[in-house]
Amino acid sequence: MKPKTKILGYENGFPVILAEEEPNGVQWSFYCEYCRRRHYHGKGEGHRGAHCTEDSPFKETGYIITLNPDYFKRDSLKTIKEKAEELFREEYNKAMAQLRNRNIHPKEKIKIARKIAMARYRSFLEKHGLSPQDLVEKSDCKLEDLL
Ligand SMILES: [Zn+2]
Repeated sequence: MKPKTKILGYENGFPVILAEEEPNGVQWSFYCEYCRRRHYHGKGEGHRGAHCTEDSPFKETGYIITLNPDYFKRDSLKTIKEKAEELFREEYNKAMAQLRNRNIHPKEKIKIARKIAMARYRSFLEKHGLSPQDLVEKSDCKLEDLL
C-alpha cells in the first residue's frame, strides 16, 4: 500500500495536514503522496505555500500544517469555551443586578453571583460532555480569567 498524506480535514478550503517535527527541532515535515517524498517547512502551525513539484492538488492552495491530530476538535472546543464564558458573564451580571438593592456585603454579592454563574457554566459544559477542568487542560482557559 502506498503511504498517504495525512489530511485531517479542510479549513477555508485549505487542506490541514498532520506533520511531524524533525529531529533538528526547527522543521516540520510530512509525506506528500503526490510528490512521493517529504516536504520540509519551518516549524509552526499555519498555512504554507506548497513545495510540490509533481502534479499535486496542493499546488494551487498550499496547505496548513499542524502537529495536532485534534486540530478540528480543538476548534469546536474553542467555540464551546467562548459560549460558556459568555453564559458565565451573562449569568453573573444578571445575578449582580438582582442583588443590587439587597442589604448584603458587596463581597458576599460577588460570591453569590459567581456561584450562580459557575453553576450555569458547569451545566452548559456538562451538556457538551466537558468539565471546567477539561477546558483548563485542553484550551489554555483559566477559570480565574473569567472575571
Ligand atoms: Zn508534494
